[in-house]
Amino acid sequence: MASPLEDILANEALLKDLVSVAKDAALLQGVLMRTKEEPNASEVVSYAPFTMFPSPVPRPLFEQAKQVQRDFNLLVDRISQDTEFLEQALASTIKVDDFTAQLFKIYRQVLQEGLSQPIVLGLNRSDYMLDYGKDGNTSLKQVEINTIAAGFGGLASWTPTVHRHILKVADKSDEGFRIPDNNPTKGLADGIAKAWEMYDSKSAVVMFLVEDFQMNIYDHRFVENELWSRNIHVIRRTFDEVCERGSLGLDKRLFIDGLEVAVVYYRNGYMPQNYTEQRWEARLLMERSRAVKCPDISTHLAGTKKVQQELARPGVLERFFPDDQEAVVRIRATFTGLYTLDMGEEGDRTVAMAIADPDQFVLKPQREGGGNNIYGEDMCKVLHNVKESSERTAYILMDKIRPQPVMNILLRRGAPLTPSTCLSELGMYGVYVRQGKEMVLNDCVGHLLRTKSTEHDDGGVTAGVAVLDNPLLC
Ligand code: ADP
Ligand code: MG
Ligand code: MG
Repeated sequence: MASPLEDILANEALLKDLVSVAKDAALLQGVLMRTKEEPNASEVVSYAPFTMFPSPVPRPLFEQAKQVQRDFNLLVDRISQDTEFLEQALASTIKVDDFTAQLFKIYRQVLQEGLSQPIVLGLNRSDYMLDYGKDGNTSLKQVEINTIAAGFGGLASWTPTVHRHILKVADKSDEGFRIPDNNPTKGLADGIAKAWEMYDSKSAVVMFLVEDFQMNIYDHRFVENELWSRNIHVIRRTFDEVCERGSLGLDKRLFIDGLEVAVVYYRNGYMPQNYTEQRWEARLLMERSRAVKCPDISTHLAGTKKVQQELARPGVLERFFPDDQEAVVRIRATFTGLYTLDMGEEGDRTVAMAIADPDQFVLKPQREGGGNNIYGEDMCKVLHNVKESSERTAYILMDKIRPQPVMNILLRRGAPLTPSTCLSELGMYGVYVRQGKEMVLNDCVGHLLRTKSTEHDDGGVTAGVAVLDNPLLC
């Protein structure tokens, strides 16, 4: 697709000036990351990787993604309450995928014990790519929905200012008006604050459950500081700290270091590597507790790729929206082809279809965090190896979405300053709070555009592939 900024990309002298303007603007706005070398110190920091210019996104598709977000919030929340569906959808997966099986085991334990907290807080991000069809039309297609640790809402609140400044210096101020305002920080904090308020204990705290290596801490800090500004006490703790010092008190209240925890906000815990046997115990402790969990274990499971694939079956969305055909239509419009690899004829057909034309598909395991999907020749190899065994049910198959490439420059510490052909992925942040049967909050609170070079099939910002970007609505 032609970028309205193409003339700048050809102007080498201007680009050279703009690079330091861009990096300094990011630093001044707090679009920051710690370095790989010193992930746990704030002595030396750098700008978070970002594009030099915003990338074109058709306004109607941007609006469509915004509008369907409240439907997706309801969908995820309803799935999380449907034990029969989760059991069925994940039955084959948990037989072969240990990670999902562990999550499911905790889910069953919590169910058996009975819910200790009727308040549910969801902070998710539904991600899309804009598929450029053979007919020349572009359509919004969902890549996945992240129901745990969906990041970058903090940093994305400040990137519009950075891009607008760059455009101004490049004598393109007018283009800056096409970058939409964005403030997921506020919306995410609104959700957490609401859940904290409803927990109804002034002295209780919000706990961010964080990684051992905290490169992306500033993204969290924006949300933390927003909560502090509302006089909500926030603490950060790792799994190991919860293992060592976390406990349940009266009425299963969760305590750590003498503080009662009202809300646990997981920014960790979505990958097998995040866990040890002890840490699984800590996850169970938190799930059993009276604290509001974001997400709770059932909502975590509702975000698996297997569930996504089951939702694409005829009639399944109707189960969750029996009285709202319009919501079904809005959601379904964003689905691309998703195929089961369960044992049986249907799964056999999926295998044959993928092997016959691997470039049309993506093979996905039940993993998060980028870099796990399998493409092309590798896909054929994996499918050949697992096609006769139930191991294949650990994966799902998905149509490859093909956005139109756009030229941009990716600014990343140590990377050369060369324009590259890029693809973008648009995310929308969803926030909801439910108490028992009543939805008390359901909103779309902002967006995230991430862009990567076409050299890479896969990978997010944390994986070092994609970088932060902004839509330039057109
Ligand atoms: P994760 O949970 O690891 O982020 P995703 O489903 O988002 O898993 O896949 C990771 C990346 O792979 C995406 O950010 C996107 O770049 C690419 N990808 C995933 N699904 C598709 C698809 N159907 N078509 C094209 N690219 C895809
Ligand atoms: Mg994901
Ligand atoms: Mg993703």
